[in-house]
Amino acid sequence: MKNKFSILIGLFAIASAVWFLVLSQRPGRILEADFLDVGQGDAILIKTPKGQTMLIDGGPGNKVLEKLGKYLSPIKKRIDVILLTHPHADHVAGLIEILRRYDIGLVILNGADLKTDNYNQFLTAVRDNGAEVLIASAGDAVHFDENAEFDIISPDENSGGRVFNGKSEGFGANGNDVNDTSIVGKLIYGDFSILFTGDATFKIENRLLVYGDNLKSDILKVGHHGSKYSSSLSFLKAVSPKAAIVEVGAKNRYGHPSPATLSRFKMFNMNIFRTDRNGDIKVLSDGFTTNIYKEK
Ligand SMILES: [Zn+2]
Repeated sequence: MKNKFSILIGLFAIASAVWFLVLSQRPGRILEADFLDVGQGDAILIKTPKGQTMLIDGGPGNKVLEKLGKYLSPIKKRIDVILLTHPHADHVAGLIEILRRYDIGLVILNGADLKTDNYNQFLTAVRDNGAEVLIASAGDAVHFDENAEFDIISPDENSGGRVFNGKSEGFGANGNDVNDTSIVGKLIYGDFSILFTGDATFKIENRLLVYGDNLKSDILKVGHHGSKYSSSLSFLKAVSPKAAIVEVGAKNRYGHPSPATLSRFKMFNMNIFRTDRNGDIKVLSDGFTTNIYKEK
């Protein structure tokens, strides 16, 4: 199966409620995605209906450990899939300690060659963990229980070089931005979907427009923490999410999310959630109806 996308006809509801009330009543066959408030960085935990787990990025430090303690079984220290969108510190640093403490099934990487201390420690921790490793390319897919799946749509062979200079966190030998090597993928469960874009910028968004209606997703994990160089109007129009979720730290030094980007979301009447203000953001879907809950 390569890049199969569903037609979206699901109902959608936004609500603010106390989680434990909701969770105690949750029926079976619910997919859960927790957008964790880990400060300035990304960390999203996905739990499939039968309990398989996937962690997308680990945030900038060990705050994610405390979050996982809250959302995962303390007895079974296991995460089935870890996906690192790209090796910048605000995505990779928190994964190092997770790899040391958890049994991991598969680690998905973008193949970028970046020589930073964080990323070197991460790669060592992957090796010591013994997890399988997949270098992601468009067309790869991870299949979970209940036909939930994660389809990778970027990077592909045309994405340009993935080799970067020395300790540079920015531009590589070919002028490529590490952010644009981000793994972009779509989580699909029934008629429900979330598009995860890592820190990809306009350049990648424009390239992805060839997917047309297949980009359409109920929820967009907003690219690059709401930077003004991501979430173009044409991309937002193509994805047409009902909700945009920004993973961002309070009072971060980058000014994320950018007011210009927020105003673009408003043009499409998207519901905006952001971890700096809402804390952890929980999405529950049965494949038809979706609810979003915020911690605050
Ligand atoms: Zn980032």
